[in-house]
Amino acid sequence: MKVIMQRHNPAPRPMPDTALLARFAAIVGPAHAIAEPTEQAPYLREWRDLWHGKTPLVLRPGSTAEVAAIMELAHETGTAIVPQGGNTGLVGGQIPFGHEILLSLGRLARIRAIDPDGNTITVEAGVPLAKVQEAAASLDRLYPLSLASQGSCQIGGNLSTNAGGVAVLAYGNARDSVLGLEVVLSDGRVWEGLRALRKDNTGYDLKSLFLGSEGTLGIITAAVLKLFPRPRETTVAFAGLASLEAVRTLFERMRAASGPMLTAFEMMPERAMEFLTRHVPDARDPLSRRHAWYALIELSGHQGEGETRALVERILGGAIEGGIVADAAIAETLQQARALWHLRESLPDTQRHEGGSIKHDVSVPVARLPELIERGNILIEAMMPGARPLPFGHFGDGNLHYNVSQPPGMAKARFLAEWAPVNARIHALVLELGGSISAEHGVGRLKREEIARIKSPTEMELMRSLKAALDPQGILNPGKVL
Ligand code: FAD
Repeated sequence: MKVIMQRHNPAPRPMPDTALLARFAAIVGPAHAIAEPTEQAPYLREWRDLWHGKTPLVLRPGSTAEVAAIMELAHETGTAIVPQGGNTGLVGGQIPFGHEILLSLGRLARIRAIDPDGNTITVEAGVPLAKVQEAAASLDRLYPLSLASQGSCQIGGNLSTNAGGVAVLAYGNARDSVLGLEVVLSDGRVWEGLRALRKDNTGYDLKSLFLGSEGTLGIITAAVLKLFPRPRETTVAFAGLASLEAVRTLFERMRAASGPMLTAFEMMPERAMEFLTRHVPDARDPLSRRHAWYALIELSGHQGEGETRALVERILGGAIEGGIVADAAIAETLQQARALWHLRESLPDTQRHEGGSIKHDVSVPVARLPELIERGNILIEAMMPGARPLPFGHFGDGNLHYNVSQPPGMAKARFLAEWAPVNARIHALVLELGGSISAEHGVGRLKREEIARIKSPTEMELMRSLKAALDPQGILNPGKVL
């Protein structure tokens, strides 16, 4: 696997010499400058173990001023910098590959302010997503961004990747939750954009440039985020269905009947249940027999009078009578609701126990999801008989993790050697269906060449112009995205 991922090295730059490294280290102090390889190791390997990075130095700044001083010195000396949050990114964007200094933002971990009246929270980039959610909950508010990696990923990483997750259907993705940003620019200047305004039409929306730019345009050091009223009740249900068309029909019915109360509609195939029950010790199939497809549905309400449960019962009851849903379970307790979510959240990890897996994070218009899966499965079987597609994801957003586990018994390396051709075929299908080859994980290193092929020359030129304007020396996360 490493063979594929090591191919696209950024243009070589001189390695910073010992004297320069000492100047960088002095900014954060010796306790927060890591040069020792064994201590660096956790920063240089990532979750999927696809990339093994290399850096002369890991810096752990403790304030925006320190980040600014680091970038000022980097600008003066032409030193490349790779920002890193929780290191849960799945496209290699947070990994340095030789000469770049790694800037780990985890010490910027203060919640600077929380305003329940204005419904905003101001947090530093290194605050883990779960802590932002907890801080909001402590004041009876909701910060809706929710990902399986939320205990480890940090808000700066979430905003830099414009993360999606399981609540996009109702609340949008990370970008939609931001009112203001504080950003350190490539030359060390600080853009003080920490505004908490809901309306501000004074020219270009600068914050948008940094959201989803994967550390290539600036370093996010703090953000003002929107909070929402905390739902008084939620109802979680799990439905078994015979076909993808049935999943789509159920989604349409749920959305039509519950509108914004529908806060999640996730989908997984029978193979997911097989993997879950085999590899996750406390995972139990909530239905009495296996089904070709499953939908996990969550409705949230603000009345607290049982309206979500009544609605779920009515819609699922009608769908069972109409032959759309074969069987369903509705969580009776918080614990049961958590157990249903646990199935969905544990799923990405189960694949590693089944040997190699080739991943796709794609989106198409919701109505075309069944076609994507059906045609994708035919393509995979033709390319690699016995390979096991595991298409799951955020059905309501048209976002599918079209992952493929290796055929049982095949050598992992042989299977993974097919990563690029398999990606090429599935991505071509996604584009034919009017979709995107990166729905929520970003571009990083993994998809850099591909977006250059797919996007129009005008679109690429605009992106390069923005990069040149904000990072003229190309020192911010070089070799990523562009
Ligand atoms: P990192 O991985 O450290 O960095 C990601 C990118 O952002 C890199 O390019 C890095 O250079 C840049 N960056 C980080 N911090 C900053 C900063 N302060 N300023 C500028 N640039 C910065 N993603 C989803 O969208 N939806 C999901 O449902 C989802 N589920 C996941 C489940 C699991 C189990 C795992 C391991 C990952 C999942 N992800 C998901 C991917 C990942 O969690 C997200 O991309 C997350 O937003 C990355 O945050 P991080 O702090 O770990 O960033």
